[in-house]
Amino acid sequence: MMRKYFTYILLFGFPLFGCQNKVAENSTYQQNWMVLEQENKALAFDADMKLSDAEITLDKKLFQMRKQLLAETDQQKISLFNSSFNQLKPLIEKSKLYEVIQSMPKGSLLHTHSGGITDVKWLITAARKYKECYVYDQADHDQFIFGQLAFFEEGKVPKGFVSLDKKLASNPGFEKELTELLILKRDALCGYTDYWIEFEKRFKRISLLLPYRPFFKEYYLKGFQDLVKDKVQHVEIRFVFDELYDFKHGKYPLKTSITDLQDVVKEIQKTQPQFGLKLIYSSFKFLDPKSIEKQLEIAFELKKEFPDMISGFDLVADEAAGNSVYSFRENWVKLNELTKKYGVKMPLFLHAGESNSVFNKNILDISTLDNPRIGHGLNLIYFPKTMELIRKQNKLVEVSPISNQILGYVSDLRNHPARVLLSNGIQCSISSDDPSVYGYEGLSYDFWVAFVYWELDVKALKKLVFNSVNYSSMNESEKKEAVKHLNTQWNDFIRKMNLELK
Ligand SMILES: [Zn+2]
Repeated sequence: MMRKYFTYILLFGFPLFGCQNKVAENSTYQQNWMVLEQENKALAFDADMKLSDAEITLDKKLFQMRKQLLAETDQQKISLFNSSFNQLKPLIEKSKLYEVIQSMPKGSLLHTHSGGITDVKWLITAARKYKECYVYDQADHDQFIFGQLAFFEEGKVPKGFVSLDKKLASNPGFEKELTELLILKRDALCGYTDYWIEFEKRFKRISLLLPYRPFFKEYYLKGFQDLVKDKVQHVEIRFVFDELYDFKHGKYPLKTSITDLQDVVKEIQKTQPQFGLKLIYSSFKFLDPKSIEKQLEIAFELKKEFPDMISGFDLVADEAAGNSVYSFRENWVKLNELTKKYGVKMPLFLHAGESNSVFNKNILDISTLDNPRIGHGLNLIYFPKTMELIRKQNKLVEVSPISNQILGYVSDLRNHPARVLLSNGIQCSISSDDPSVYGYEGLSYDFWVAFVYWELDVKALKKLVFNSVNYSSMNESEKKEAVKHLNTQWNDFIRKMNLELK
């Protein structure tokens, strides 16, 4: 042992004796180190936040809570960093930290999709109550796929479909099987999945279910109730419009989706008066510019009639398979013309850079278009000039960590690109994208992983939460009210948690 120590002294001098500490404390080196540390912090997205004494107290408690969690998982030899969300979900749910995050007010959910917000188990239970609900129980086929749900009138049921209720009653294992067919899991980080193919199949399986008007209303009521329960006060949905229908009336005009959703919101507001909803008209990247032109006209027409409900326009789908944002440049150039024609503006809320490839340049369009928020922006970090522009233009990146892991863009969530964005002063908010397809509800899981894997503090959490309201598409007076409500909720949360946590 002594010999080892002498070798150390021979190699590195005497630092261990402490006799040089005084000199080191005042050295230029140490001063530079301190300045540099501050200069780095000053570039972060939350540099303008000042915490109250109560918030600092809670911050210390949460820091300890995470430290303990990491120590415990380490002790139990749980590979926290190399396990998938689906593997860790039970552990997350059991953690005290999850309880704390559940009770944290979350402001808005800015990025989620129609068809992805309501619990799948609920969906099966609710759908089977309709005697006109059927499930396709044959092998995948051009038109229908195994497990696809739909409503049909008696006598008009296509071949291959059987009554959902009867199928569930006669085959006890089918409920679990159907649940699995509606949820996309990443069972292990190293397993192979053709993510987008499987992902789109999940949407296809419920695509005929949602436009059925009675079910549509039930579905969103449940979705909004889940969000309220998880302390979300406002939601903006990337909404794919479809004509609602029922068997008495047939098809309804597109705007029925909006008026029905307004009714659902009113229902929620009976107990949660501050709850709000906006829709982002969404079409698909695999369409051609001619079709997008038509889609834009429809979006403008709806926005003209419902300026407080429609906030903008987006194109969704797998960016590796769909057309580039740039390929729709003629559409974007015509936006001014359409604004004049309809008398309303149509900001873009494009999904861009949901990719790990530098050959995907969708992020470049964002800084040159009226596109106040970006869906995902995972490869933004590879375009430093654009990153700088987006920071200066004060545009927000909607980050969905769990979605990014399940769709295979990130494995170890410590390496999520949003950490680079946050430390470089790019504003972000936390979203859940398609929680029901990923097998969960609410926004707490995404905040949990962000807090644990990105080593966030209360300052960062607060900034992310408040960003979700400040960068929402609410108008100025709605925003003012929402911030006021959020402030009260936030201070309440801090006070309660400080009392509860030792
Ligand atoms: Zn999305």
